[in-house]
Amino acid sequence: MSPELNAALSLCRNLPSPPAIAVRLIELAQDPETDIASAADVIALDMALSARMLRIANSPLYASRRRIENLSQALTMLGLNATLQLALGFSLSRALRDDECHAQLLDAVWRRGVLSALAARYLGEACGVRRLEELLLAGLLQDVGILALLQVRADIYPGLLGSCTDNLQLLAHERAVFDCNHAEVGAHLCEQWGLPRYLTEAIAHSEPPAAPADAFERCVALSGCIADIWLADDVDQARNNALREVNAALQLDSNRFEQVLQQVSQMLPEISALFDIPVPSPARVTFVLDHAAELIALRNLRELHDASNAHRRADDYELQARRLAEQAHLDALTGVLNRRQLEVVLEQEFGRASLAERPLSIAFIDLDDFKKINDLHGHLVGDQVLQAFANRLQGQLRGSDTVARFGGEEFVVMFPATSESTAVEVIRRVLGVIAQTPMAIVNESPLYVTFSAGVATHGAYERFTDMRDLLKAADDVLYRSKNLGRNRVIARAPTPQPTAC
Ligand code: GH3
Ligand code: MG
Ligand code: MG
Repeated sequence: MSPELNAALSLCRNLPSPPAIAVRLIELAQDPETDIASAADVIALDMALSARMLRIANSPLYASRRRIENLSQALTMLGLNATLQLALGFSLSRALRDDECHAQLLDAVWRRGVLSALAARYLGEACGVRRLEELLLAGLLQDVGILALLQVRADIYPGLLGSCTDNLQLLAHERAVFDCNHAEVGAHLCEQWGLPRYLTEAIAHSEPPAAPADAFERCVALSGCIADIWLADDVDQARNNALREVNAALQLDSNRFEQVLQQVSQMLPEISALFDIPVPSPARVTFVLDHAAELIALRNLRELHDASNAHRRADDYELQARRLAEQAHLDALTGVLNRRQLEVVLEQEFGRASLAERPLSIAFIDLDDFKKINDLHGHLVGDQVLQAFANRLQGQLRGSDTVARFGGEEFVVMFPATSESTAVEVIRRVLGVIAQTPMAIVNESPLYVTFSAGVATHGAYERFTDMRDLLKAADDVLYRSKNLGRNRVIARAPTPQPTAC
């Protein structure tokens, strides 16, 4: 970068600056003590941001079977890391578009940003990079240097940007005029804002002559040329160019590449709406999508002859699906929270309940004689019962109650701010409904299940040392209800008295 531009960037008073909420989110991202509750406190201050977080948690990007109804559920489901990355992306993109002079140019930059965000994320998924939210954010912000140049060199940069027909030409002109490119400027800006180091580096290495250092950075660097498929005048040329680069840098074959294009196309309307960015012409989106589907179908026909190849791909898909579920903290079979995430959430709720001196109740639930269902009807029916059960259980509870699969045929429900007697009452009502609802139809006959449950409460009849103690207490009570003959709900405290349902 020329010393003059460097000085101009360092001194410039009207450089784009992050909004207060983004500054808070950046601080939270750097603080190892941060938890979901503190992120929620910051996000809840901004209604528009909260609405976007809720909407993205319900979008197909996070494929949850359960409708997320409030901010706290959304953030719990997304997890801390995804929450911070997504919230930062939303708040920065919104604030950095607030410039009427260059509205059209800015729209074009963000349109490419949103496409690149999706491309980076799906490329990462296709080649096994795990940090998908970081990829989304790095893809989104990779052209942030263009925004800085639009302000710092408002005299010549808008003209230069408007006159370039593609990214390569833009890079060449920037080099000739400023002795640097927008990736270097973007990285400089990110550093000044204190954004995480991975972002600064990924942006710095996103355009030549810099080279990406690892698979993560390669996904970010390649996302721009994938975005150009939706933006360039000549779709086929842009597609061939992107395929060549993706194949050389990530060794993805053309089939995988077309899948990435399909995924980007499918997600584009939802994500563009979330970022308030006009989608490139809908006809263009359909064109890219149809073309990708045709190519995939043709190749699949050819590959039908290659059974072992097909087998391997099926395994790959399964692995991918499992990874996705794991990443979203949901149990892959039932779609409720998995055990790992339950422990995270329960620990936080336990802390909150202790501080606020509010009761926290939990129910430990175990389906009765479930092994017999597997033995009599097979594992697939067993799976179906677990899914139907989780679904019904969830449907019977309030939005603020959290359902998790603890393992096998065991589930835990967490009831914040709820007394033991209320939790017992609720779970008994659920047992009544479940016992009368078929969980599967086998040979045209309905299949019913019952369950046994133990309820324990922190902060009323007794206080526990930590959430593990509370879980163990509920599990002990569950054991008692099994011994008493199953199909019942028992409370830990002496009253209310255990009764069969
Ligand atoms: P009890 O009333 O004492 O709880 O008896 P049970 O048969 O329900 O309990 P047990 O612990 O003996 O058996 C649980 C069974 O659940 C055994 C295991 O194979 C089955 N299981 C665990 N996870 C899954 C799953 O994901 N799918 C299916 N189909 N079965 C599962
Ligand atoms: Mg069990
Ligand atoms: Mg059981």
